[in-house]
Amino acid sequence: MKKIFLSIDVESDWGGRLKATQDNCQGIKIIIPKLLHFFNDEKIKCNFFISTNILTEFKGLIQEMAHDGHEIASHGKNHLLNFDTADFLTVKDEIYQSKIELEEIITSKIYGFRAPQFRNFPGLYDLLEKMGYLYDSSIVSKKIYLPYQLNQSSNPYSIGQLYEFPVSRMMFFNFPMGFLWINILGVKTFISIFKQHYLSKKVDYLTIYLHPFDLLCTKDNSKTNLLVPKVFYNYNNKNLFNNFKELISFFKTYNFNFENFSSHVINKKK
Ligand SMILES: [Zn+2]
Repeated sequence: MKKIFLSIDVESDWGGRLKATQDNCQGIKIIIPKLLHFFNDEKIKCNFFISTNILTEFKGLIQEMAHDGHEIASHGKNHLLNFDTADFLTVKDEIYQSKIELEEIITSKIYGFRAPQFRNFPGLYDLLEKMGYLYDSSIVSKKIYLPYQLNQSSNPYSIGQLYEFPVSRMMFFNFPMGFLWINILGVKTFISIFKQHYLSKKVDYLTIYLHPFDLLCTKDNSKTNLLVPKVFYNYNNKNLFNNFKELISFFKTYNFNFENFSSHVINKKK
């Protein structure tokens, strides 16, 4: 059975760089309700990594995700862009407090962590294990240059008591398998390359990621005054959400099963 772990990093717009106010979280406000609706219709379970500085504004939405059976995991507190080099106590607090805050809100255990911008560092697993996490997804699968090795690249593996779910890497392009990059390449092109270079191999696991703001079209982004995100996200593309649906429907057609990370870990530990 082919498994796909769909993971969504929930943070303020423009990669968690903006203060987590309502205005700076258009992605969460506009896209998450659409996604939840779509996932319910399609009976898809996914994994949300939450940056907990958004909880003040969006507590109800996170509870709704959990209620719908999606997995809630931690993406730290403040989406620190120096997460891998910040001082030990700050990082420890980010990892620990975010878990506690999320557990309080959904009244259930939090098992997973993803560092902002995949900024993992050598002591990360040790900290996660001590704080009761069961898995991490803060690395991108290794650069693989030979097509015949592609299927090796993103299987989950255990490190001590923890599991690591590496984010898959795009064939040939060396980017992490994120919707933003897939969409820039073109969903149809991605699918055609994927069919040629993945489906012919024995692919067991894929971990794909996206952000809610990756699905915002230009008119939704008009509140952003920063030049770079305006240019970067300037698709003016009303079909972004449809492109995403097309991608998901492709995976469903090819019998990929959408799974929660923790179900996989718990099954393996049995
Ligand atoms: Zn992030």
